[in-house]
Amino acid sequence: MPSRPIRSVAVFCGSRFGHDPAYAAAATALGTGLATAGMRLVYGGGGVGLMGIVADAVIAAGGEVLGIIPEFLQRREVAHAGVGDMVVTSTMHDRKRRMFDAADAFVTMPGGLGTFDETIEITTWRQLALHDKPILLCDVAGWAQPYLATLRAAVHQGFAGPESLRLFEVLPEVDAVLRRLAAITAPGAGQPERV
Ligand code: AMP
Repeated sequence: MPSRPIRSVAVFCGSRFGHDPAYAAAATALGTGLATAGMRLVYGGGGVGLMGIVADAVIAAGGEVLGIIPEFLQRREVAHAGVGDMVVTSTMHDRKRRMFDAADAFVTMPGGLGTFDETIEITTWRQLALHDKPILLCDVAGWAQPYLATLRAAVHQGFAGPESLRLFEVLPEVDAVLRRLAAITAPGAGQPERV
């Protein structure tokens, strides 16, 4: 299967800042790093919370941003006014599908229910062999540990196989995520997706 460098990265993260200032610092570092690496940010289009911070950092560093926001959230999430390339979808499902299509890889940063939803969805799609795009979790200040404990519990209880823990990679901080993105290739370039 042909492959090429990662050029477009979907980032899932909170529409809030979280309590630990390490989260915002990591979001800034990720945005700056993506822009410096010439990788486009694909994200939910909001100007609030960590989402807004990542997008601000990419824009400040001269990078490319694609925001994808559903109509009903456009006002509630205060769509980022500085993002030139903003797609407005009619539904949440359409948003997630468009984000999936536009991304070569996924990075999850700290966040809440929406972040978990998006991360679990693309992970289960990978479990079902509907795609083979890399999924990286950035465990900023141990943020991902309770999530990982839940997945390990599912394996322990017999509801998931141990291989489900290998559908994604956990990296301790943003620099490691950026190094990994630079090292891996996008699978199936030019191949139609089956999702
Ligand atoms: P959160 O992590 O809850 O702050 O949400 C982060 C992003 O996920 C935001 O862009 C939300 O619009 C999105 N989101 C929130 N709730 C959901 C949901 N139930 N399903 C999918 N995405 C969601």
